[in-house]
Amino acid sequence: MRIVAGLLLSQNGLSVAVLTADSLKRSTYSRRMRQLKWQITTFAKISIMTHKAGFVNIIGNPNVGKSTLMNAFVGERLSIITSKAQTTRHRILGIVNGDDFQVILSDTPGIIKPAYEMQESMMNFVKSAFEDADILIYMVEIGEQALKDEAFFNKIIHAKIPVLLLLNKIDNSNQEQLEVQVAFWTEKVPNAEIFPISALKNFNVPEVFARILALLPLSPAFYPKDQLTDKPERFFVNETIREKILLHYSKEIPYAVEIETEEFIEDDKIIRIRALIMVERDTQKGIIIGHKGEALKRVGVESRADLEKFFGKQIHLEMYVKVNKNWRSNTNQLRRFGYNN
Ligand code: GDP
Ligand code: MG
Repeated sequence: MRIVAGLLLSQNGLSVAVLTADSLKRSTYSRRMRQLKWQITTFAKISIMTHKAGFVNIIGNPNVGKSTLMNAFVGERLSIITSKAQTTRHRILGIVNGDDFQVILSDTPGIIKPAYEMQESMMNFVKSAFEDADILIYMVEIGEQALKDEAFFNKIIHAKIPVLLLLNKIDNSNQEQLEVQVAFWTEKVPNAEIFPISALKNFNVPEVFARILALLPLSPAFYPKDQLTDKPERFFVNETIREKILLHYSKEIPYAVEIETEEFIEDDKIIRIRALIMVERDTQKGIIIGHKGEALKRVGVESRADLEKFFGKQIHLEMYVKVNKNWRSNTNQLRRFGYNN
């Protein structure tokens, strides 16, 4: 070893500072820095150790109330809800943030046997919901027997993660029926904790949320704390319009429709939106527009009112209808609308 200008060179060539008048200052400074760094990392470690975060995925048959529950948790209408099956087509994340937790809920389309390519993609969204969950919510409704899809059902009963079985719509039930149902599900899904709830009336929903928090793993947040969802603003415009179409048109019309928000221009006071409503056939286009445009006008008025509430701003909404033959079976079109995951 030799000392050169305040540096101690070891034989393997590594250098460390030695005390000189000048380096004393430096070393005090670096000691303070080390101390600060230690405090910062320790603080980070402590906050990681008390912070909980994770993914909670909601699955179940169509129409059991999955989207209603997610909206109840998030406190916003992120997922559209109607009494029709297959209202939800995508996987939508709803994020509930607290100082020391972040619950990332994912609403999925109801489980169905796919009949066309779009539905296949919808079921892929469901499959992916099994893969990244920390907690699984399996939702059933009063009177329901079991999942129509056996493969999905097997995944639930063999899940390695906690499963909360929510028996929904108990506002439509009585004590006797409830007891029979709880016994039935206890036997059917022995690995689950069962909660009778009413997502609509918010009955037992806070209790389920408290249980989620208890089961959630220790982890830092995955998303910024002011974020509510993973979907862009345009997605909510599309979904709001689609909800009104589901509500006001019958038969196959809603299932043949896709919405694309082509323009979303926001300034201080107003958001200007142009949306395309796509259908598969000319006859459908006529039905959507309706006599003297009355039907489409109603969709516009109601969508605008909802969007003003959702975005908290004045909305200017322009819509037009276009025919795009067989978009539901066209892979490229489906990709364009975000179905290929
Ligand atoms: P999803 O298809 O599973 O997402 O179901 P939705 O959340 O879209 O709800 C389907 C229908 O069930 C809607 O008409 C809801 O208002 C209704 N619903 C949801 N939760 C409840 C509930 O707790 N009680 C009753 N009576 N109806 C409910
Ligand atoms: Mg839904």
